[in-house]
Amino acid sequence: MAIKVCKFGGTSMADGMIMRRVADIIHSDAERRYIVVSAPGKRYSADVKVTDLLYRSAEAARSEGCCKEVFAKVRDRFVGIVKELKLDLDIEEILDETEAEIDRTKDSDFAASRGEYLSARIMAKLLGVPFLDAKDLIRFDEKGALDESCYDDIAKACGSVPAAVIPGFYGRSFDGKIKTFSRGGSDITGAVIARGVNAQVYENWTDVSGFLACDPRIVSGAKSIAVLSYKELRELSYMGANVLHAESIFPVRKANIPIRILNTFRPEDKGTLILPSVHYKKKMPSSIVTGIAGKKDFTVLFVEKSMMNYEVGFTRKILSVLEKHNISFEHMPSGIDTLSLIIDSASLRNGLLEIIESEIDEAVHPDYMRTLENVALVATVGHGMSASVGTSARLFKALSDAEINVRMIDQGSSELNIIVGVDNADCEKCIAAIYHEFFDADDAVAAGV
Ligand code: ASP
Repeated sequence: MAIKVCKFGGTSMADGMIMRRVADIIHSDAERRYIVVSAPGKRYSADVKVTDLLYRSAEAARSEGCCKEVFAKVRDRFVGIVKELKLDLDIEEILDETEAEIDRTKDSDFAASRGEYLSARIMAKLLGVPFLDAKDLIRFDEKGALDESCYDDIAKACGSVPAAVIPGFYGRSFDGKIKTFSRGGSDITGAVIARGVNAQVYENWTDVSGFLACDPRIVSGAKSIAVLSYKELRELSYMGANVLHAESIFPVRKANIPIRILNTFRPEDKGTLILPSVHYKKKMPSSIVTGIAGKKDFTVLFVEKSMMNYEVGFTRKILSVLEKHNISFEHMPSGIDTLSLIIDSASLRNGLLEIIESEIDEAVHPDYMRTLENVALVATVGHGMSASVGTSARLFKALSDAEINVRMIDQGSSELNIIVGVDNADCEKCIAAIYHEFFDADDAVAAGV
């Protein structure tokens, strides 16, 4: 039988009623066999995520020697869920052990991981399937990266049971301690399990019906994206379209496993299907642009020097300055005599920008150097762009009609995206202008207008 790995996010674990809904979704398809769960998320906007309460518990254990007071809120959430589900599970006993361990270890990763651990224990009981602990399946190496040899262990452990529930977000570090992925990391766990069991599909269940062509707070009623390639997803998530953890692509991409984003609260919706290039070519949609996303607060460092192209080592010298200060750059568009570095402004605070400027000046003696702050990057992404003549002309005409000053242009060599740099204040306007140009115009054509 085919295998589907399903990951359910925090809002799908928020209370007992929603967990029942999750159980119904799982029962409605016998191929949904390995289930990865997050910790209970917010039930309403002012609510606090269990993971945040657990981080606070570890802090209290460190500063006050005991986490009892904050942990009481975690206790309430889980006791409430078990009661609501009328499960025969001694959750108080598990919670007592957890609280004592947080007080003893005072470790943030351990504490944070317990939200997923407890959710998974409850879901396993509700579904009547085995609980497999992520600490026995997911391992990190000495550098903190995923130890890829764990795929064999996952195949073995999961292969020995027809179905199981596995907590997301954490694994075991090389020294035996619990270690978590970065926030939102249960998406990565789901992808790693999907790869380990060689799933046909990785279903990621959340509270939205997939990716939208742009942020609905910017364009209300923005269309949803039916099919997306891994590469497009990577570009859009990097730019802040955060339905899925950006790192969760890598494990499944290597094994050509598709991801489907689905909505626990509207399970009948088709969601977004994310495909590896090999499959994507067959299903590629006819639209030119797949999605638009933007991110604010970049700094552009512009360096100009005549005959720079003849100067061996010119770029290396500039990049060495960044390396020395442990700063990474996002993009580096260049001309014959010019080079721009686009850097996340957060990494240049506390006077570092001035230091870097003066060190670059010393290293390459440019004719001219200038910095531009408060720049937003807006990426227009779509495989369809490479095959369609006039895409950039349409894009830039739309921006000029909207009176947006473009400060920088970068088109990746893959022709998968066009990135423009605009003032932070123009970011939303820029996204809306591009959306209306490509999506509204396509509608008009389809409607024969
Ligand atoms: N519970 C963790 C977080 O809030 C991980 C996750 O939900 O994916 O970040």
